Amino acid sequence: MHPTLRALSLATFALASLTSQRLHAADAETQILKWKDGKKAAFMLAFDDSAPSQLKNVVPELEKRKIVGNFYLVTGNKLYAALKRRWEDAAKSPYVAVSNHTFTHKGVNNAAELEPELALCNEVLNKLKPEGRQPRLFGFGRPGGVPWKVTPQEQAEALAKHHLCDRPPFFGPPIHYKSAEATVAAVDAAIAKGEMGHLDFHGVGEDWLVTPVEWFTALLDKLEAVRDQVWITDVVSWHQYVTERTSAEIKNVKAAADAISLELTCKADPLLYDLPLTLSTEVPADWKKTVVTQGSNSTTVTVSDGAVQYDALPGGGMITLKKTE
Ligand SMILES: [Zn+2]
Repeated sequence: MHPTLRALSLATFALASLTSQRLHAADAETQILKWKDGKKAAFMLAFDDSAPSQLKNVVPELEKRKIVGNFYLVTGNKLYAALKRRWEDAAKSPYVAVSNHTFTHKGVNNAAELEPELALCNEVLNKLKPEGRQPRLFGFGRPGGVPWKVTPQEQAEALAKHHLCDRPPFFGPPIHYKSAEATVAAVDAAIAKGEMGHLDFHGVGEDWLVTPVEWFTALLDKLEAVRDQVWITDVVSWHQYVTERTSAEIKNVKAAADAISLELTCKADPLLYDLPLTLSTEVPADWKKTVVTQGSNSTTVTVSDGAVQYDALPGGGMITLKKTE
């Protein structure tokens, strides 16, 4: 059983159980699954400071294994200028998610200084990923080891203004995890808790705060092995999913023996929050296959354990489940 949010009101459920006629669809309970595709946990990899070893040792491995990484780029220093072309090439990969680590990594002494640090870095990120529509979200990672003289509220306001979503606080090898085993165990811990886990890196194999390549390879082997249980994702998708899920509501519209209709809404801004949520709806016992339709999207889903699992966009129009077999 997935950890879930019960989206149907208790009142509706009680009413359904009172009806003498057992109309299955009246208790067509729909749950919003905690993580995308009903996975047990979510996991994110982060790589800070545009370190050259990430281009050399990280990007090719992620591409080979089809695992996404979040690259917290500093786009206004000499190091970046020297590697600009290579980052432009790397960013063409769907497994390279670019994020804002400020323009200079020099820190800020007040809110006014934070402005250009965010805006100028965003400008570069938008050019690296020109295919995204506007406005759009990017991830944000605060630079460490430098002055950061803004209040949490000033930071939150600036991030909202620049459409940036904050990542979880930095945690990773070799600072917080001292071996390959300890690094890999972070994935097991996320699965055991059913929560989002993450590992944050600087250099891999070279550069600074270096994680040995062998540790990194062991981690990727682990992620590949548990891929069916873990949603390996980018920071924006994680933030979108959680934000949408926590304010989502489901309204049952129609429930018949061969068709169920419902609506999914959430309070997040649809321009920025456009990631489908994964839902699971209980269907009558004689359903084997279901066509799920929302707007112009239609998919056939096999019923499993009396329920169908499918993706739906909050505010994306009526969702209809029809029995086909
Ligand atoms: Zn940094």
